[in-house]
Amino acid sequence: MNLSQEYLQNPKIASIVQTVVQEEPLSFEQGMQLYTETPLLVLQQLADFRRRKLHGDNAYYNRNIHIEPTNKCVYSCKFCSFYRKPKATEKDGAWDYSLEDVDRILGDYEQANLTEVHVTGGVHPGRDLEWWADLIRTIKNKYPQIHVKAYTAVEIAFMARKSKTTIHHVLSVLKEAGLDSLPGGGAEIFNPVVRKKIAGGKAPANHWLEIHQTAHELGVQSNATMLYGHVESFEDRLDHMLQIRKLQEKTGGFNAFIPLKYRNENNALSYLPEVSIEDDLRNYAVSRLMLHNIKHLKAYWVMLGFETAQKSLLYGVDDLDGTVNDTTKIYSMAGSIENPVVTTQQIRSLITQNARVPVERNSVYEAV
Ligand code: SF4
Repeated sequence: MNLSQEYLQNPKIASIVQTVVQEEPLSFEQGMQLYTETPLLVLQQLADFRRRKLHGDNAYYNRNIHIEPTNKCVYSCKFCSFYRKPKATEKDGAWDYSLEDVDRILGDYEQANLTEVHVTGGVHPGRDLEWWADLIRTIKNKYPQIHVKAYTAVEIAFMARKSKTTIHHVLSVLKEAGLDSLPGGGAEIFNPVVRKKIAGGKAPANHWLEIHQTAHELGVQSNATMLYGHVESFEDRLDHMLQIRKLQEKTGGFNAFIPLKYRNENNALSYLPEVSIEDDLRNYAVSRLMLHNIKHLKAYWVMLGFETAQKSLLYGVDDLDGTVNDTTKIYSMAGSIENPVVTTQQIRSLITQNARVPVERNSVYEAV
């Protein structure tokens, strides 16, 4: 790190630098200083220092597709552009795949050398635990070696409620069916007041954390997300990160943290402006520094666009997610990239243009 003396003479910055160099956890107050008082250049250098310590020149990506089995949902989160009411029809933009549909979609990717299928979607009131387990079996029957990362904590909470059983039982059944890890979705923002405003009714923070803790105890790793840039404050973001950091101290089961930018098309919060790219980069850098105990920080290019995702590699990010192959609609319906598809060549070139070494990884970050 090559910070000028001018910055180091500021005692608050000097104390943050010392904490980062010693790989100690930063406090909530230091997090606020990072968000509100620290020049972006200093943040960038600190986050990049931390990233380099963890990963050297490597930047990761994988070959994956998403399966979004349905967008019918019992909830109606205000930030969500994806969901349709359970009784909606195709004319209203709703879909609801059968297991045969899923099998057919998977068949289109036989030549794609995929290492991961990512499954998330709406919380459909008509499906039961056995159906969701069968969906995993359908994927494993087709591609036995593939890593199945499936179902947000919100979907899992609903499966347990509907089947009148425990989280532990649901996760055990899904694991038995072939579940390999959990995605990080559904975390949004943990603060209950904000959560009620933007995602009222769905699994509260303590359920989200309990589900991830139970998964980790069963040997199922997971990711964690944070939806930012809507009505939350910096304090809310830091509280969210610190709760994730605390669980990581206990279980060590999180692979990656993924900040997700709120996009404002076609949803009930569309009157809110989106945050600037500078805010995105600041948020990545703060995330890298606050979550010293989570190894990977992912920029999801589908949501950010290629240019910002590439810039984020300079602000603490070490992972650009996967090829996706135009298989997700969650962000394109909210105003992001229309047809999210990237070749491995393109993703590698985004990385090499930043003088990093592209490393194809599997879902648990082993080089392929
Ligand atoms: S964010 Fe998820 S739970 Fe909320 S409405 Fe959209 S699909 Fe449903």
